[in-house]
Amino acid sequence: MARILTGIQSTGIPHLGNLLGAIIPAIKMSKDPKNDSLFFIADLHSFTTIRDKDILKQNTYATAAAWLAFGFDTKNNLFYRQSDVTQVCELAWYLNCFTPFPMLANAHSFKDKSDRLSDVNSGLFTYPVLMAADILLYKATSVPVGHDQLQHLELTNDIVSSFNSKYKVDHFNKITPILSEKTQRVMSLRNAANKMSKSDLSDMTRINLSDSDDLIAQKIKKAKTDAYSEISENLEDRAEVKNLLSIYAGCLDISFEQSLNDNIGKSSAEFKASLTDALINSIGPIRDKINSLLNDESYIIDCLKKGRDRAIDLSQQNMNDIKKIIGLRK
Ligand code: ATP
Ligand code: MG
Repeated sequence: MARILTGIQSTGIPHLGNLLGAIIPAIKMSKDPKNDSLFFIADLHSFTTIRDKDILKQNTYATAAAWLAFGFDTKNNLFYRQSDVTQVCELAWYLNCFTPFPMLANAHSFKDKSDRLSDVNSGLFTYPVLMAADILLYKATSVPVGHDQLQHLELTNDIVSSFNSKYKVDHFNKITPILSEKTQRVMSLRNAANKMSKSDLSDMTRINLSDSDDLIAQKIKKAKTDAYSEISENLEDRAEVKNLLSIYAGCLDISFEQSLNDNIGKSSAEFKASLTDALINSIGPIRDKINSLLNDESYIIDCLKKGRDRAIDLSQQNMNDIKKIIGLRK
């Protein structure tokens, strides 16, 4: 049996990259009765960048609504808010003391964010350790993520090895990253060198799950392409078009080859029109579901409350065992 764990930060409204890279693969895995799934809203992670309490709250509910909109079965799986289980902060501290400083200093995600953000705080720096604690607190085995998180999962496995070998135990298990083959990296609509991100300052770089049909159409119209006249088989040096073709494939749940086949010979404007339709058809119903869930926050609050109690129960035994191993308890 695999224990699947994945989280989304409440740094903004979830976007197409979160959907194709993490939410859809995780929801698919959660439907397999052999798996046990834990999905959470990573609000402590988002505290590294969001200081406005109303925005933080709004984003938390929007992120929760995105999971629920897909019909995530919260009765048979665990759905919770990260900050509700304070044990994760305690574990993060222990794991911090097992994490060599250069390992964090060399993390791509930190370099990328510290280049872009004006507030570079230590929370942002130690964020991969909190992520390791998210996973190890619940002894998860498999973590569906986008490509950008791969290095952090390697770091988690390094921490597992040093902890187990230091105390000569087999307490933590190595984890397996689960990458969605075709949509592990959805790139920005304005610069295919960057991934689509909630923290990108320009809203035009991403498709949010809350975007209206008109806004989706406008963003695709303005999405960067290139000077070639049509979509052709040779996609060398055509990173923007490749990205749009893989978004099309993700929306229709078809292979990249099929997406290329469907669009070959189309002009950029014709392809953008097809892509807009595909996006509106796949995002539209989710957006409507999210909006209706957000109109009844009490349902979201209730789901998170139930999840909190179960998550605390699940983490308690592990925390006691860890404290015994490291010598803080008898
Ligand atoms: P932020 O910019 O605040 O870090 P984000 O857009 O990177 O936000 P996260 O909440 O950090 O979103 O990521 C949640 C999950 O979505 C992670 O598994 C991450 O790997 C995945 N993910 C994020 N962006 C993309 C993307 N562009 N393509 C594929 N997967 C993505
Ligand atoms: Mg991120």
